[in-house]
Amino acid sequence: MPDTNPLMIFMVSLGCPKNLVDSEVMTGQLLVKGFGLTMDQNEADIYVINTCAFIESARQDAFEAIEEGVSWKEYDPENRMLVVTGCLIQWDKDERVKHEFPEVDLWTGLDFIPQLPEKIAEIKKSPKFSGISFRNNEPCYLYNDETPRFQWTLPHLAYLKIGEGCNNRCSYCSIPDIRGTLRSREIPSLRKEAENLIKGGVKELILIAQDITAFGHDSGNGTLADLLRELQSIDADFQIRLLYAHPAHLTDEIIEAMAQCSKVIHYLDLPLQHIADPLLTAMRRHVTRSQIEETLGKLKNRIPDIAIRTTFITGFPGETEAHFNELKEFVKKWEFNRLGVFSYSPEAKTPAAQFETAVSPETAVARAEEIMKIQGKISLKQNQQLVGKEFSVIIDQVNKKHAVGRTYMDAPEIDNIVQISPARKIAPGDIVEVRICGCSKYELFAEPIKPKGSKK
Ligand code: SF4
Repeated sequence: MPDTNPLMIFMVSLGCPKNLVDSEVMTGQLLVKGFGLTMDQNEADIYVINTCAFIESARQDAFEAIEEGVSWKEYDPENRMLVVTGCLIQWDKDERVKHEFPEVDLWTGLDFIPQLPEKIAEIKKSPKFSGISFRNNEPCYLYNDETPRFQWTLPHLAYLKIGEGCNNRCSYCSIPDIRGTLRSREIPSLRKEAENLIKGGVKELILIAQDITAFGHDSGNGTLADLLRELQSIDADFQIRLLYAHPAHLTDEIIEAMAQCSKVIHYLDLPLQHIADPLLTAMRRHVTRSQIEETLGKLKNRIPDIAIRTTFITGFPGETEAHFNELKEFVKKWEFNRLGVFSYSPEAKTPAAQFETAVSPETAVARAEEIMKIQGKISLKQNQQLVGKEFSVIIDQVNKKHAVGRTYMDAPEIDNIVQISPARKIAPGDIVEVRICGCSKYELFAEPIKPKGSKK
């Protein structure tokens, strides 16, 4: 492909940070193969949508994005090409979605991330193959440190995907069917990728996978604790954040490594999903309430300032009023720093979709709202207790009025923010020491004290 007049790609990335890394890898592959990248769809020759499909609302978002892509293509159908990639293709095993969108030129599943440039080139050359799909039902693709990757996040933030797929088979979850079984990456490759990202200006490295605490369970080549110690030994100024831990796999060894590694932020995303034992069993979470409470106790004991984020599901089949009351009491007891709730909706082909003890969707939503009301009060109380305290805050954005940053308690996009003013001499990526001077339920307001390089 001639460099002078490259085919321009416009990329839409839907879903979670794990999917975003796939989009970054696809973009990297396309760029090294001579394609160009544009943020303006009017300049694009090829419109790529990397989809998410793990629940109905994610699929609705994907359908809407495809419809937008179809409208874009209608403007010049001879020359414009529409590509749909990612989880939706893995989910659409009987190709019903594919047949609803005959305008799409190419459908590619997860194993075809590295071949995306050549598949696009093939269709461009032979339009008679337009509409073709490439998908393996059991995906096995895993990128490594040598795979070209174009970072889409803010320059000081990057996700490090330490594995792919999941073996847990929670009864409500379609992800193992979509993304395949657990494949952990190699620790030396992860170190190299981390070093490259840090050399490129990354200050916050966010470890992700479907279940980071299952890292190495498949390969036997080291655990998450080993990986944390390896990343800790990189001689550079950066911090490590951990998302998506599973309570059944959060071992003493991992907690100890978190406590000992100074670069690991005192933050953990630990989705619990429920707390009543019959629900945990029905969800196939392989953990009991007493085990969860023991783990939470160990975490707080070993890392007293740990900020814990969790999520719950309300309205799961079989959730009685008593189970829900137990969940409410648990939320009040543990006062999580950050909390989200999903109201359950059945996913076809998952075991839970066959459970007969359904809770009405209205009840599931009402229960989710009730939990968020409780959490709102906890969050406001916690924020009020922070007024007057000092924190190091990483800056994500700066505008005329203020800078927007995050404390160690906040992951980008999902948690709270700190508004800092005045924002004079503050730039994105700076770590600034601030004093909290006000708050709302989910925001802090602060003034700068002095720049500082430490993590919290
Ligand atoms: S841990 Fe459970 S909820 Fe998470 S991806 Fe695996 S099966 Fe799905």
